[in-house]
Amino acid sequence: MGPPGSGKGTQARRVANARGVPIVATGDILRRTALAATSIGRTVKAIIERGELVDDEMMIEILSTRIILSDAQAGFVLDGFPRTVNQGLALDVLMENRGPVIVVEIAVPHDELIRRVSRRLVCQQCGTNADLVERGARRCQCGGTFLTRPDDNERVAVERLRIYERATKPLVDFYRKRPTFRAVDGTLSPDRVTAQIELAIDTALDNLPV
Ligand code: AMP
Repeated sequence: MGPPGSGKGTQARRVANARGVPIVATGDILRRTALAATSIGRTVKAIIERGELVDDEMMIEILSTRIILSDAQAGFVLDGFPRTVNQGLALDVLMENRGPVIVVEIAVPHDELIRRVSRRLVCQQCGTNADLVERGARRCQCGGTFLTRPDDNERVAVERLRIYERATKPLVDFYRKRPTFRAVDGTLSPDRVTAQIELAIDTALDNLPV
């Protein structure tokens, strides 16, 4: 878990690759839905562009149909879900008899998040992030093109952070009391953050009640 710009997408991809499990990124699923010329596609597109949250009922439906697929049976990395206490409660129910829910929070100060999000580029093909100022070329290693996300301008970034504080922070506090919760310092280099997350997951798995 982490606010927009905390690096959770990048880190989720790394952890999923390292552990050979799929990544379930609800933002990516919704961005695909938003491309459809349907009423639901238009509604989702407008919500994302305002930086608001899609309603819990739809999100829980999306998640529950995704995590029952065969590739997710041995585990999966969630990126962007849950974002509200209601979604967290639903996840607990969906995960009953399936294994522990390990929660890692990536903590980054507010000003640094705004700076990162308003300069972020995302490869439209593989989802890799890059920094608008540091990145000269607009081509990713995979051959895709780096684009700015429509919800990555400063006004929407401020709104997404406000919503994170209001809707998602209470969920982080809800998880904080659990032995399977860990927080890592998201201002470190991406490689050090990955190492901390891997350690957090291994420690949580080692300390599960038998
Ligand atoms: P992300 O790529 O995770 O930053 O998500 C992009 C946008 O998709 C968010 O700003 C929300 O509008 C929407 N979204 C993604 N995941 C959720 C969720 N779990 N609950 C509600 N809205 C979501």
